[in-house]
Amino acid sequence: MQLLKDRIRRDGKVKEGNVLKVDSFLNHQMDTKLFREIGKEFKRRFEGEEINKILTIEASGIGIACVVAESFDVPVVFAKKTQTKNIAADVYKSRVESFTHGRVYDIIVSQEFLGPKDKVLLIDDFLANGKALEGLADLVRLAGATLVGAGVVIEKGFQPGGDAIRAKGIHLESLAIVESMDEKTGEITFRE
Ligand code: 5GP
Repeated sequence: MQLLKDRIRRDGKVKEGNVLKVDSFLNHQMDTKLFREIGKEFKRRFEGEEINKILTIEASGIGIACVVAESFDVPVVFAKKTQTKNIAADVYKSRVESFTHGRVYDIIVSQEFLGPKDKVLLIDDFLANGKALEGLADLVRLAGATLVGAGVVIEKGFQPGGDAIRAKGIHLESLAIVESMDEKTGEITFRE
């Protein structure tokens, strides 16, 4: 998606530890006009697929997932992160290792909002090692729902998540795939 790549090149900041900061338009301040285009692009890429629910993970996936859900005219559910030992009985639970925070946490979704009738598209802002998407896919499996595919705004192609997700046979669409980024020069290149 050229509009997105141009924006990443212009406003993205390369931080140490292979972290790309896009706080000015995606992760903190959110450019709703760009979000609308992102929503339309995911709709186009998953055209013809039967989707009745969007599933994302809090917090940074929620804004994008809402706009995508709007373009599919379906509800969005977000998995909650929790460290509570006493998890309620009526939830599905999986485990995710956080890329940005370097710790493991549980993600949960209420059984009321995900079930065998659901045809689910996963949406997230970033794909790095793939743990967030794998956790969400696990919740879909536990719920007996159908996983239609996964859409991420930015895939860091030099990290293993994209290959791991594709190797599982999941239909993955990434709107921008970063091939390389240089912390010193700030240069970012994309996969065509
Ligand atoms: P993964 O589970 O694929 O390793 O990481 C995905 C999650 O980590 C995303 O939900 C995102 O919030 C966060 N993340 C991973 N890499 C980056 C990055 O370079 N920049 C930002 N802002 N978030 C990232």
